[in-house]
Amino acid sequence: MSKVYNPYDNMLEVLEKAAKMLGLEEREYAAVKYTERELKVAIPVEMDDGGIRVFEGYRVQHSSSRGPCKGGIRYHQDVNIDEVKALAAWMSFKCAVVNIPYGGGKGAVKVNPKELTKNELKNLTRRYTAMILPLIGPERDIPAPDVGTNAEIMGWIMDTYSIFKGYTVPGVVTGKPIEVGGSLGRREATGRGVMFITREILHRLGMPMIGTRVAVQGMGNVGGTAAKLLFNEGCKIVAVSDVSGGVYCKTGLDIDSILSFLGQNNGKVLKDYDIPGVKHITNDELLTVECDVLVPAALENQITERIAPEIKASVIVEGANGPTTVEADKILERNGKIIVPDILANAGGVVVSYFEWVQNIQSLMWDEEEVNRALEKIMIRSFNEVWDQKKEKNTTMRMGAYIVALDRIVKAKKIRGMFP
Ligand code: NAD
Repeated sequence: MSKVYNPYDNMLEVLEKAAKMLGLEEREYAAVKYTERELKVAIPVEMDDGGIRVFEGYRVQHSSSRGPCKGGIRYHQDVNIDEVKALAAWMSFKCAVVNIPYGGGKGAVKVNPKELTKNELKNLTRRYTAMILPLIGPERDIPAPDVGTNAEIMGWIMDTYSIFKGYTVPGVVTGKPIEVGGSLGRREATGRGVMFITREILHRLGMPMIGTRVAVQGMGNVGGTAAKLLFNEGCKIVAVSDVSGGVYCKTGLDIDSILSFLGQNNGKVLKDYDIPGVKHITNDELLTVECDVLVPAALENQITERIAPEIKASVIVEGANGPTTVEADKILERNGKIIVPDILANAGGVVVSYFEWVQNIQSLMWDEEEVNRALEKIMIRSFNEVWDQKKEKNTTMRMGAYIVALDRIVKAKKIRGMFP
């Protein structure tokens, strides 16, 4: 039987280590070990066949010390409260590491969205929004898309919240369709951030972008965009995968062809992609394939202590949240691998979510170039700050990122003081 990982325990272990390296006393960071609020809701939905199904949902707020809570909503059949708590905490660290004025939160519904009709999905989303309504709002807690949710679902959340308020409140949620206050560049932002960060780390390591061999796990929003943009920058994408498995080609895959194959909205997955010269591989094989850069961009706990010793890539850029277990992280560090941690590598999404919220509350609309330029500036600045911490403390990039983030959260807490 495979080992069960508690992602919240993983988060705590990393947090404790960062606190020690920062020389913090327990009292200074004790509150960061806990989530501020956890809401569990039951969501009854009338199904198209007339039956009623009740789904379990959550919204967790980890920290509001630096601003409103911010974090996506996940629709997945296997989510549990510990996963949502860890994801919420990672959002606090992520917002702090890129220095945007937010704390962290996360929401989820235990559902396989692919099993629901569009009508059922809409009803589920509206009822879930109504149930978490007391916690969310533009100054309070701002959801966004995550695994299993998308712009259309964010539009339904915005509409439901607005109906309860009696006026349109675009700033309650980010990642919305452009037509109802979404930002240009938001859909590609996380993958674009992964590309910027990959470019920066390769530059620091004296490795060229052109011809660098990259493997990407997950061909969804993050992995698909990252693969496409890295391909455009001259990288050779040797392997990609999705939930059905992966494809490999030593001389490089045609990413445009793969994305158009997957994007035809016909339920096609990579196991159906049959092109001469392309070999089918498993997801385990994808992680251990011969390459220079590995981008895990699917789900958490993919790189385990079983897989870690077999990884050939010298650089791992974490597109997904929490793809590496603590045990695997230790093995990779021992093997001299450079890991750019999730809280930095995939922060592009929340940075452009922040831009979307800023545009919404100011009733402004930026053009895409402005969005991408501002994103690049923040990603490079944050990368440099983490790199400097890594050097100064002679530690890993993960620790460097947690040190930068925890320092900012703890300072905000200290300035605000304890109540009462
Ligand atoms: P998505 O639903 O668009 O795509 C997920 C991809 O992973 C799909 O290709 C799916 O087939 C694949 N997948 C699912 N289970 C898999 C498995 N067991 N093995 C291999 N592949 C599998 O999701 P996304 O938005 O791209 O998110 C991916 C990861 O990035 C998640 O960890 C998410 O939390 C994180 N993330 C997303 C964003 C964002 O803006 N979307 C921002 C930051 C972090």
